[in-house]
Amino acid sequence: MHQRHPHTPGKKPVTLFGPDFPFAYDDWLEHPAGLGSIPSGQYGQEVAIVGAGIAGLVAAYELMKLGLKPVVYEASKMGGRLRSERFEGAAGVIAELGGMRFPVSSTAFYHYVDKLGLETRPFPNPLTPASGSTVVDLEGTSHYAETLDDLPEIFREVAQAWADALEDGARFSEIQDAIRERDAAKLKALWNELVPIWDDRTFYDFVASSKAFSRLSYRHREIFGQVGFGTGGWDSDFPNSMLEIFRVVMTNCDDHQHLVVGGVEQVPCGIWSHVPQQCAHWPAGTSLASLHHGAPRPGVKKIARASSGNLAVTDYWGDTREYAAVLTTCQSWLLTTQIECEEALFSQKMWMALDRTRYMQSSKTFVMVDRPFWKDKDPQTGRDVMSMTLTDRLTRGTYLLDNGDDKPGVICLSYSWMGDAMKMLPHPVEKRVQLALSALQKVYPKVDIAGHIIGNPITVSWEADPHFLGAFKGALPGHYRYNQRMYAHFMQDEMPAEQRGMFIAGDDVSWTPAWVEGAVQTSLNAVWGIMRHFGGATHAQNPGPGDCFAELGPMQLPD
Ligand SMILES: Cc1cc2nc3c(=O)[nH]c(=O)nc-3n(C[C@H](O)[C@H](O)[C@H](O)COP(=O)(O)OP(=O)(O)OC[C@H]3O[C@@H](n4cnc5c(N)ncnc54)[C@H](O)[C@@H]3O)c2cc1C
Repeated sequence: MHQRHPHTPGKKPVTLFGPDFPFAYDDWLEHPAGLGSIPSGQYGQEVAIVGAGIAGLVAAYELMKLGLKPVVYEASKMGGRLRSERFEGAAGVIAELGGMRFPVSSTAFYHYVDKLGLETRPFPNPLTPASGSTVVDLEGTSHYAETLDDLPEIFREVAQAWADALEDGARFSEIQDAIRERDAAKLKALWNELVPIWDDRTFYDFVASSKAFSRLSYRHREIFGQVGFGTGGWDSDFPNSMLEIFRVVMTNCDDHQHLVVGGVEQVPCGIWSHVPQQCAHWPAGTSLASLHHGAPRPGVKKIARASSGNLAVTDYWGDTREYAAVLTTCQSWLLTTQIECEEALFSQKMWMALDRTRYMQSSKTFVMVDRPFWKDKDPQTGRDVMSMTLTDRLTRGTYLLDNGDDKPGVICLSYSWMGDAMKMLPHPVEKRVQLALSALQKVYPKVDIAGHIIGNPITVSWEADPHFLGAFKGALPGHYRYNQRMYAHFMQDEMPAEQRGMFIAGDDVSWTPAWVEGAVQTSLNAVWGIMRHFGGATHAQNPGPGDCFAELGPMQLPD
């Protein structure tokens, strides 16, 4: 097993601790006292969980351990956006259609990865040892590099300008130090200064108006957009709220990422069949799978308040069941497009937030190849014949996934977002592959990639799937208030009775959309909220997110 050690020697690790809500989810999960308990009179009570993605399954698993009976509904595939699709015939050779590289700072997510004993290893990101080599191809010129130092000077100037801009404009090191030290008060003080300023302004504005970039050329900014930092080009995020980008870099989301060997879908599916060591109420050997007799219930088409005061959930086939609490984890747009959700279940301010949430588009196209041929050496240059590739061409990011010399390899020909993903949207998989191959041919004129393809290609456009309508949230300027309302919704004590019992969690409720850790953390918030809804509480030695919310919760901006 590869070590996951992002540590700078002598310093504590950066984790996804805040910055909006600096609560240590990893400590809460690892504490021997457990997450809390509910009165024994509530044991066995049913809770509806809409969606069997990671947020739904983490909540279901933890609620089962508390002695409740989660009833999971899934309209499409289990695992949701952690989807590892198998290439036909080749055992264990997969395409990661959703999440594929997981920052080691995602400590609550890795709690479950480790519980399941899954192996992880570094993801072959640009300019990392795991990729071996990288080709940056911009404006028709290719540069071959193993590290940043191998690239022309202008790339280092861009990297330095980004570091300087963050330091100057956001006190980056001070914030990261507060995260490392888990100094919640200091972190909140620093972060809360940035929120009102940068909620109104875009990522592009931050870059263009920074001292560091404004003394350089337009070309520097352009290169930054194409090559970016960490995982690749970031220009598709230029219109987003700068707060969202700060969160990514401050919590090292874009750094030290691992893949899950054999596919990340094993995490949600593993949680489904995992038998916890300790479970209140349920007999030894109980798992989510056993509670469900093997499969989740079908998709949900209606949620309404029943005359009994409970919440009535109706599935696609018309079966209606009543629950004291319902947790929805599907994207919030689906509460108006897929599910007939009674309006009175949320305040109008919440509906504004749920509906204004904005999703980014994303498309990926994969092929399986006979072997990891890219490691062959060009006899003239001695270099790899093909490399992880970042380019301004149609493909944008090409990733090479080596399953070992004796196994087929996988090429993610293209992973793109927003406009670049929209270019693919109407096209069938064959055309997407052809478009990608012809772009890559211009970068690698001597390499016959097509000659290595075996099996059928795999592609995805998340925005084309009615169960998602987009890849992940990407907040726009002015969206902080919406994020805050949705995030804080699990704190229900002050809510009118007609709205209580409905909980939301998942990627678009989180402060760090597009990163699975946010889905897990919001799921744990919902666990706390539901535990309280059933009259339960945390252990005095192990306070939960709701216990610390009044003190540490995300700041509110005036409406
Ligand atoms: C292209 C892409 C790349 C990503 N890359 C990364 C990455 O590299 N690293 C990382 O950390 N994260 C990444 N993410 C983010 C990560 O995948 C998500 O944060 C996480 O998987 C979201 O989990 P969730 O449970 O919130 O939502 P989902 O996984 O969407 O789960 C919600 C479930 O609800 C179901 N559903 C919808 N409608 C209904 C209904 N009516 N009834 C019942 N069920 C319904 C859906 O089918 C789905 O299974 C990526 C996501 C995408 C799309």
